[in-house]
Amino acid sequence: MRSHWNKQSLCFLASNMQQLILPALLASCWTLCSGADWCYQSQFSCDHPCNGPEKWNHANSNCEGKQQSPINIVTRKTLKDERLTPFKFDNYQQIFRGTIKNNGHSVQVGVPHLSTVSGGGLPTSYKAVQFHLHWGNNGGPGSEHTIDGEQYPMELHIVHMKHHYIDLTTALSDPEGVAVLGFFYEKSNRANRKYEPIINALRSIKNANGNTSLLPVSLAQLIPAEQNLTSYYRYKGSLTTPGCTEAVVWTLFESPIPLSMEQLRAFSELKFHDGNSMVETFRPVQPLNGRQVFRSGGAVILASSALLMATIATALGLSQPN
Ligand SMILES: [Zn+2]
Repeated sequence: MRSHWNKQSLCFLASNMQQLILPALLASCWTLCSGADWCYQSQFSCDHPCNGPEKWNHANSNCEGKQQSPINIVTRKTLKDERLTPFKFDNYQQIFRGTIKNNGHSVQVGVPHLSTVSGGGLPTSYKAVQFHLHWGNNGGPGSEHTIDGEQYPMELHIVHMKHHYIDLTTALSDPEGVAVLGFFYEKSNRANRKYEPIINALRSIKNANGNTSLLPVSLAQLIPAEQNLTSYYRYKGSLTTPGCTEAVVWTLFESPIPLSMEQLRAFSELKFHDGNSMVETFRPVQPLNGRQVFRSGGAVILASSALLMATIATALGLSQPN
């Protein structure tokens, strides 16, 4: 489970204690603590007082909306929806030479708008725009979405927009303009060779705003095989960074992508703008506010089979006449 330790409150508390000794310190810390830049909780300190997730509404009021992302998915409360059929991936095998960038909050790769996704209960076809990742500290918990409270080490977001839009800004004005495909990672004993182009490029973009060209990759090589993508969750939410626009049709796939510990750790070598390690780049989970999470026909309710077996065993035990 995630710790909701709030560094901003602590800074405020510390500044209040200092107030007793040196009132001027409170004034300076107060000014600093209301800095305009948004940041992740891991970046916040009194020396670097940016707006942490609890204050993202200062950066954009959308961030306190009622349909925010990420969320914790409680599998037993999901509703099976027969319309959530398998996706049709077009040109996901297309090999491209992208640019990978450390944008100060994440690593992001621009994708030529050739790969599209349709089916999967989506209202129309969507084209891929970019992908980026969210991770923890040296392979620790780092995904944005959680499943039954479990936080995975990393999460991939492939951002798509409706095929007829020309840029994300336009797509974000449509409540279903953006479709993000989210994938979880799991620790594996073996290195995932398909990720070598990404992992090797990280060395060249350690500093914020660093970018380099990526060796040829396809989207297909970065995600599980298509036959393993029929189990997924669906809900309506938002971007997970400011402006937090509520224009995203979310899909979270059950099947995780394996990476070795060493590969996961490579992401923690990156730096934020302030030079500190780029770690724990995830927004805390947001309230559902009555939203329903749907699951595809293939998605299983975790632990339900064990529960069923126990129920049957108990029933049999009770009905034995002796
Ligand atoms: Zn993201």
